[in-house]
Amino acid sequence: MPEHLVLGREHLQGLFDALKTRNYQILGPTVRDGAIVYDELSSSDELPIGWTDEQEGGRYRLKKRNDRACFGYVVGPHSWKRFLHPPAVRLWQASRNGKGFQILEEKPVKRKMAFIGVRACEIHAIAIQDKVFLSGAVADSHYQARRDGNFVLAVNCGQAGNTCFCVSMSTGPKADSGFDLALTEILEGEQHYFVVEIGTELGREVLSGIPQAGASAAQVEKAKAIHAAAASQMGRSMDTTGIKELLYANLEHPRWEEVATRCLTCANCTMVCPTCFCSTVEDITDLTGEHAERWRKWDSCFTTDFSYIHGGSVRATAKSRYRQWMTHKLATWIDQFGSSGCVGCGRCITWCPVGIDITEEVRAIRGGPPSADGGHSGKERP
Ligand code: SF4
Ligand code: SF4
Repeated sequence: MPEHLVLGREHLQGLFDALKTRNYQILGPTVRDGAIVYDELSSSDELPIGWTDEQEGGRYRLKKRNDRACFGYVVGPHSWKRFLHPPAVRLWQASRNGKGFQILEEKPVKRKMAFIGVRACEIHAIAIQDKVFLSGAVADSHYQARRDGNFVLAVNCGQAGNTCFCVSMSTGPKADSGFDLALTEILEGEQHYFVVEIGTELGREVLSGIPQAGASAAQVEKAKAIHAAAASQMGRSMDTTGIKELLYANLEHPRWEEVATRCLTCANCTMVCPTCFCSTVEDITDLTGEHAERWRKWDSCFTTDFSYIHGGSVRATAKSRYRQWMTHKLATWIDQFGSSGCVGCGRCITWCPVGIDITEEVRAIRGGPPSADGGHSGKERP
């Protein structure tokens, strides 16, 4: 049985201070530009207190809650990959030195980052990216330097979004491992506290100077009821039975043509996906020709350049690009990395400008009836 403690809401800042004292950069959710994004926080007051998010295919809106919950939302457009695998990283520089070039390798930046409010599906997404970047013959030194020394403060979801399907992917809504501390937020009348599960000795040590008490059996049961309620609220589901074989057997299914008539190949789905890792390299030179740099930047399998090889793109059509993305996420990823590439966070559904829904596409290829609401949960699109 894991050890549970209770932390009063008034002591959340103490947790921030304890992390700062240990030289962590605190990164967590905050409201900016009409969305809940992840950024550097200096105080717990910058959390999205009293805000929630409404999500549907192609729709995201912030709404005021009628309480002061700190984590009363689901997930936004950002994921932790922006800190572990940043959108742009300089790999090396080159300068003329008279006879030729001197290459200056970019030293990986070692940072102690504390991630605040990490959801269960996101912990699974980080584990998937760990496999992508750190397993195999050569580990990615930039990812490794950023990943080493992370402190993970997980938050178990108290509600699910309309586009969430973590239960189908067995990735949530409760965090089971991969955290230093995991909080379940409880609001009952005037009472506002967190049931805390200790995941590591580091978590225990960080918590040690902060007033806390052991959780009662009733408080632990309340936390469990919250997890169960979130699990029962999933807005989407996906039948993953034999999904690899299903997709391999249906590479010419007419549904790929149908989805291609809607897909804008904008790449939003890959940018917001917490597991997508495709990148390209760009070389730049200054006007004098004395200095050059190579940068690694996020790329997407939805661009024609991504599959360009001598003379043309392998995937010239929207059909081939959508099929590549979805079959990679749900089928070839399993052969490549031993697990699905999808954690059911729902971001690709919410942030697709035309509301293409990966769960509905799987359902269509499986040949089953559309979901009762036609895949759009009966809500009107804006
Ligand atoms: S599925 Fe949606 S988000 Fe992805 S490329 Fe197509 S239009 Fe853009
Ligand atoms: S494919 Fe979509 S639902 Fe799955 S992890 Fe990526 S963004 Fe989330």
